[in-house]
Formats: sequence, C-alpha cells, structure tokens
Amino acid sequence: MTDCIFCKIVAGDIPARKVYEDDDVLVFHDIKPAADVHLLLIPKVHVESLAHCDDGHAQVLSRLMLLAPKLAAEHGLEKGFKTAINTGVGGGQEVFHLHVHVYGNR
Ligand code: AMP
Ligand code: ZN
Repeated sequence: MTDCIFCKIVAGDIPARKVYEDDDVLVFHDIKPAADVHLLLIPKVHVESLAHCDDGHAQVLSRLMLLAPKLAAEHGLEKGFKTAINTGVGGGQEVFHLHVHVYGNR
C-alpha cells in the first residue's frame, strides 16, 4: 500500500504531528484542522474504510472508539467533542485508509 498517505505516516516516510501510538493504533493532528483540536485516529494496518472491515478488525475498532474520549480530554475537550468516520466517496472520504476524526473547540 505504498500509495496510501496514512500508511506512509505509519511507516515514518512522511511527517505528522503524532499524539499517540501503540502497536495497533496511531493518532496525529489533522493537517487542515476543522476546529481548535482535530485528531485523526487510525489503525496501523491498512484497511480502506469502515465498509472494508470484518470481524478481524473488531479489536482495533474498539481500541479507536475507546481512545477517542481519552485523547479528547487530554487535548482540552472535556466538555465534549465530535467524531466522524467518512466512508466511501459518497460519504465524503478523501483518504482511503480508515480514520476516525475527533474534533472540537476548547
Ligand atoms: P476524510 O475526508 O474523512 O477522508 O478526511 C481526510 C482527512 O485527512 C482530512 O481532514 C485531511 O485534512 C487529512 N489529511 C490529509 N493528509 C494529511 C496528512 N498528511 N497529515 C494529516 N492529515 C491529513
Ligand atoms: Zn493505508
């Protein structure tokens, strides 16, 4: 998946403002933030979209969801935040590596 920009970020081939990383998940700031805080939570494994996930992705999907409120709070969004997962061209997806947007204003 050498053409995937988020795989390149995972591989360290292009820079990103990383905020969290473990064996399965990487989180970094969106390059064009839509709010004071705008994080992208991604699985390190390449999967095109939510529509391409299967039971084998259940654990990493769970990790992404459970990380969202923790990282939001750590970035000053204790009062609340928005999440979005755009899926497919019709869903406004532009980068075809699954990602969860977490964003909000302080
Ligand atoms: P989506 O429309 O859900 O596919 O959103 C893709 C998001 O990725 C957009 O909000 C972009 O600003 C963001 N993005 C694209 N390239 C980069 C990059 N190199 N580093 C960080 N965020 C990026
Ligand atoms: Zn990828």
